[in-house]
Amino acid sequence: MSRCLSEIKGLVERAHRALLIAHVMPDGDTLGSALGLAWALRKRGLIARVSCADAVPRQLRFLPGSQDYAPRPRTDEDLLFVIDSSDLARLGSVYDVAAFAAVPAVNVDHHVTNLHFGQINLVEPRAATAELILELIRYLEIPLDATIATCLLTGLVTDTLGFRTASTTPDSLRAAAELMDAGAPLAEIAEAAFNHRSLPMLRLWGLALSNIQGHDGVFWTEISQAMLRQVGADQEATRGLANFLRTLDGWPVSAVFREMEDGQVDVSLRSSGAVDVSAVALSFGGGGHVQAAGCVVEGALTEVRERVLDALHQALSTNHANLHE
Ligand code: AMP
Ligand code: MN
Ligand code: MN
Repeated sequence: MSRCLSEIKGLVERAHRALLIAHVMPDGDTLGSALGLAWALRKRGLIARVSCADAVPRQLRFLPGSQDYAPRPRTDEDLLFVIDSSDLARLGSVYDVAAFAAVPAVNVDHHVTNLHFGQINLVEPRAATAELILELIRYLEIPLDATIATCLLTGLVTDTLGFRTASTTPDSLRAAAELMDAGAPLAEIAEAAFNHRSLPMLRLWGLALSNIQGHDGVFWTEISQAMLRQVGADQEATRGLANFLRTLDGWPVSAVFREMEDGQVDVSLRSSGAVDVSAVALSFGGGGHVQAAGCVVEGALTEVRERVLDALHQALSTNHANLHE
């Protein structure tokens, strides 16, 4: 870790312009971490730009600098940071082979499934990538301010669902306290990130929740394009549904299947801990954490759903067999 930090410091000292890239369908951690680091690098005299293939969701537009996000390719930047992404496919249309061949890329991420694609890989298990960014900023001896702290606390609050996940450690709470001391408004962040749901969104959840199905430890629901049209919702309306579904008592594994416009299916997996859903997601080209993971799979909704459910049942029965050996 400290060798990695000193290598990044060397790169930052030589660089003039940095491009920080967030993953597709961006969440509070990828956006907050990239923006927090961008503001910090600017304090070191660098020009820092931020890039993401998809638009910033409405509930994260309070993040300072979020209006600057655009699906921007590398131009004259001499250093790349890839933030909160376990593989380069997670960058979507912003991934550019030539750019990555031309200049060094630093991979900063907390997913167990990370493929270590960077020249430097700051990849460690933390509750959020924002925690790693805070450690990097400390190492670079850049003083925190309210802007940086707000971005990073947003990453920490959203990825830990308000400090409630198994990944939350005493260090996560110490990091949060340090960010609050620097001026980050915890209650405002939590309010903006969690308590602003639209009517079409709740109607969509109603449809999805009334159609929950399951057997043998795995339960699931799905969202088709037709359902989105029926209630006048967009893809953003599904955000948070997988976490809500996981609260159903007595079921170890849950899944949400979402039909996308381009003939692919976005899969969100959750586990109470009995099964490592990141391994299942990885086997479908995705990634994530033991208790929360996802993948995007080519194919029709029904067909993808059956393939993924088979893999989940398989993982669950292998796990049971291991436990009873
Ligand atoms: P979600 O179900 O979209 O809330 O994502 C849960 C976790 O899995 C997050 O940590 C995501 O970063 C990760 N994840 C979701 N989809 C993918 C994917 N297609 N590839 C890699 N990781 C993913
Ligand atoms: Mn993320
Ligand atoms: Mn994250």
